[in-house]
Amino acid sequence: MNRYPTRKINIGNVEIGGDAPISVQSMTFSKTKDIKETLEQINRLYFAGADIVRVAVLDEEDAKALKKIKEKSPLPIVADIHFNYRLGIMAAEVVDALRINPGNIGGKERVREIVKVCKERKIPIRIGVNLGSLESHLENKYGKTPKAMVESALWHIKFLEDLDFFDIKVSLKASDVIRTVEAYRMLRPLVDYPFHLGVTEAGTKFHATIKSAAAFGALLLDGIGDTIRVSITGELEEEIKVGRAILQDLGLRKGVNIISCPTCGRIEVDLPPIVEAVEEATKDIEIPLTLSIMGCVVNAIGEAKEADLAIACGRGHGLILKKGEIIGKYKEDELLPKFLEEIEKIKEQNGC
Ligand code: SF4
Repeated sequence: MNRYPTRKINIGNVEIGGDAPISVQSMTFSKTKDIKETLEQINRLYFAGADIVRVAVLDEEDAKALKKIKEKSPLPIVADIHFNYRLGIMAAEVVDALRINPGNIGGKERVREIVKVCKERKIPIRIGVNLGSLESHLENKYGKTPKAMVESALWHIKFLEDLDFFDIKVSLKASDVIRTVEAYRMLRPLVDYPFHLGVTEAGTKFHATIKSAAAFGALLLDGIGDTIRVSITGELEEEIKVGRAILQDLGLRKGVNIISCPTCGRIEVDLPPIVEAVEEATKDIEIPLTLSIMGCVVNAIGEAKEADLAIACGRGHGLILKKGEIIGKYKEDELLPKFLEEIEKIKEQNGC
């Protein structure tokens, strides 16, 4: 698929836009002034595979905590600020990017002061339009529609461009898939800034996963989107796991693709525990690897031909195939260890 040609920006050491890999980010839910807890959550996100983390800055204590958090964070930090330009300046002096909406920070002169620091430190600003907090004049004119979101984004973008600032990223989040997708599609041809994709307030793990996969799938397959966040109520690692999986399943991030059958009356082995164990054992592999684990030979041989490594089960036993070639026949209880052994060999061959 062809990605929309966006300009490239940097958040710390992470490139966003242009030909940069699509990054995955999340947000801590600690009080940022609680440095220990915030760093703990940042580390959890880091080990889950996040590329960037955002923290909320509500008051001066939060803003003062940013320096220590930044010093110890393994991830680039984005500070999320509303209304208070002083907090914007304090944060801009320390972090790797800001998320503000320039139109709600108290006038052009105040935004100019924030922008001055961002320019000096070469850090970008994300304009984060959210359907739940649209400017009232736009909501009155267009209602809660994608058109209103796009007008809002253009208004905020112009605010920064008028200050000669172009280090911009944009998000347009609604809490439903359709308005989110429509808004991003509508804005995409009008600007070349990179887009941060998100369905906001997407709900619990179950629904947030589905909404995000549906929205990001539609957009990313259209070549729209440069960084993503899956918003899940009360989850940290899961946001990253789902985000990375969406990218992998769209072929936009290297990783393991597991093909496994849903099972049916033909099955003669206990397949689900084998698939779950393989998924767990391979979740951190970052080389392209296709694994096929099938319950019987009906489709297994065909799938195995396209897989790096495959299992084709029979009655209480199974074949293991490498690139479509049978390398052995094993009893049911030997299948998983042997399969994992073969995966280890592939990892070693690829230097990981
Ligand atoms: S691979 Fe075999 S066991 Fe699995 S769903 Fe297909 S027919 Fe059923």
